[in-house]
Amino acid sequence: MKKNIPELFGSMVFNDETMRSRLPKEIYKALKKTMREGTHLELDVANVVANEMKEWAVEKGATHFSHWFQPMTGVTAEKHESFVSSVGNGKIIMEFSGKELVRGEPDASSFPSGGLRATFEARGYTVWDITSYAFIKDGTLCIPTAFCSYGGEALDKKTPLLRSMEAIDKQARRILKLFGNDSVRRVIATVGPEQEYFLIDRETYLKRPDLVITGRTLFGARPPKGQELEDHYFGAVPAHASAFMKELDEELWKLGILAKTKHNEVAPAQYELAPIFSAVNVAVDDNQLTMEIMKSIANKHGLVCLLHEKPFAGVNGSGKHNNWSMSTDTGMNLLEPGETPHENAQFLLFLVAVVKAVDEYQDLLRVSAASAANDHRLGANEAPPAIISMFLGDELTEILEAIESGSAYSKCKKSQMEIGVTALPHFPKDTTDRNRTSPFAFTGNKFEFRMLGSSFSVAGPNIVLNTAVAEILSQFADSLEKAKDFKSTLAALVKDTFVAHKRIVFNGNNYSEDWVKEAASRGLSNLKTAVDALPQFVSQKSEALFTKHGVFSKAEVHSRYEILTEIYCKTLCIEALTMIEITKVNIIPSCIAYQSELASLLKRKKACGSFDTSLEDFLLGQIADLSAGLLGKLKALESAVEKAKNEQSIEAQAALYGGDVLGAMSQLRQTADELESLVAKKHWSLPSYAELLYMVK
Ligand code: ADP
Ligand code: MG
Repeated sequence: MKKNIPELFGSMVFNDETMRSRLPKEIYKALKKTMREGTHLELDVANVVANEMKEWAVEKGATHFSHWFQPMTGVTAEKHESFVSSVGNGKIIMEFSGKELVRGEPDASSFPSGGLRATFEARGYTVWDITSYAFIKDGTLCIPTAFCSYGGEALDKKTPLLRSMEAIDKQARRILKLFGNDSVRRVIATVGPEQEYFLIDRETYLKRPDLVITGRTLFGARPPKGQELEDHYFGAVPAHASAFMKELDEELWKLGILAKTKHNEVAPAQYELAPIFSAVNVAVDDNQLTMEIMKSIANKHGLVCLLHEKPFAGVNGSGKHNNWSMSTDTGMNLLEPGETPHENAQFLLFLVAVVKAVDEYQDLLRVSAASAANDHRLGANEAPPAIISMFLGDELTEILEAIESGSAYSKCKKSQMEIGVTALPHFPKDTTDRNRTSPFAFTGNKFEFRMLGSSFSVAGPNIVLNTAVAEILSQFADSLEKAKDFKSTLAALVKDTFVAHKRIVFNGNNYSEDWVKEAASRGLSNLKTAVDALPQFVSQKSEALFTKHGVFSKAEVHSRYEILTEIYCKTLCIEALTMIEITKVNIIPSCIAYQSELASLLKRKKACGSFDTSLEDFLLGQIADLSAGLLGKLKALESAVEKAKNEQSIEAQAALYGGDVLGAMSQLRQTADELESLVAKKHWSLPSYAELLYMVK
């Protein structure tokens, strides 16, 4: 049956069109006003909206509703309640009130709060985020909400994101006003996240406890073929993946998610999906839903979707590219180079604001991409290094350098680039996107932050980005609002900012060793691991930034740090314990079985007299030696974990997990992987890398 995609699109969303057609006019107007201006929503209005939402949802087969929120675990949470309400005589009606729509009280004691909510006061509450539409997922009407404690502290990723959007809106509008753009009512940070993932066979996956428990393979000898031939990238999508992608697109479209591009990625069994960009809060919701739906649809196809940053050693891991810009409600992209000198002066100012923000807050951006899993990618010659730098492209860099030196820019009609007087030459978009190694690249009319891990919520990085840029814009506005001569102050501001922060601009190969040295000489940070990076979140500078713009309170800043550090430790603890168990129940028994087979063969051969037993002797000797080594390494890992677990302070714990524990894990793995390449297949109970990566259906 041919599907009508435009009709399908958004059919499971209580979007503007549905609201307009279903709500009484005055209710619709009141709701829109609240959405636009953030004003209070009266209960009588909420009651009508809730009832109409319920009617609509029930028509679509929904039986439950849920406040859908984004606790600090990085995934979404929901608690379903049915619309069923008893009216006596064993009869029920389907009911949903304004109160239930607007506010919920999940028993939230098990969500991480980083000390914000004492466990005896477990109550947190959820509040409807009116700016993002309700939708139906799996028979449940989901209401996007923010999640707060009773003291009003944000317990989620959404509340600070919304606050950071307000900060950048406010500061960007101050700048726009100075350029005479009075009609702009809102500046919106826009994001299009490109999502990478692996698809593997479900039955094979279920035989790998490491994948099931930790999302990545903790063991596995390298297959003879990795990604050397680069024959997977943009290749024909295999049938199983194509069927998955078709269904995924449809499900996403139903939810109004603008799924656009899909293709094979570099590693075997790796793919990518990119949506059309949207306002950042919507992009965050949509990306969370996308990840969730990817997993559930993969299951239906006998597959598993892996979102871990590094499921397989030796082949590329998965990231997420955060394409970011700022747009006005009047449709202007503030990072789009314009046609006139006036437009370009404005563009250059926003551009250098981002340059300064990224330089000054490079450590916070690094933190926003830090996790135990992403440590396996960053700096590992497949993803950007842990050093933050920016790619502007040759033309834009030359233009800024010409401004700096007051010298001529070759492609400029007039001999000198003068801000607000000279128009920028037109530079084609494709010249700006050639550098794939840069962690933060200008790609024509937006920046692409490429450090994020594939499983990340894009909320964190965008909270940092929005707030850092808002801060620089506020500094610029402070100085320009006071300026006696706007044009010359502006010109000086663009020039001085570039001069002061150009150390962050690097157009070369970020993967090279030379860059690591040069970056150090430029004074750029190189926070190699999450353990190095996370403490930057509680620096004075970080606190000052977030509190000034009302994005996080001091307590909220500290709670995030604690939670992230705790998650880091727990992740490594679980991985280490999983390794220990697999070694004991899978690997050692496999080695023993093979050794015993070899030993009994040897015994029989020797009993029979003069057979050559050199092969058996050799193999048995090698496996016996490696197995003995394995035992030593297993014990070393056990004691390293024990020591880390007993450590009191979270900082010291993280240091031990990132140091001794991780080191012991890698030692153990090395020996186990050597054994895998010696032990007969029939005795090795874990499916190999080749089976996982190539034998998908
Ligand atoms: P590519 O990176 O392959 O060249 P595009 O540049 O078209 O592809 O876009 C990559 C992603 O960037 C897409 O998700 C797209 O929607 C998003 N994007 C494009 N323009 C913007 C913008 N102004 N703000 C945020 N994201 C954007
Ligand atoms: Mg891209």
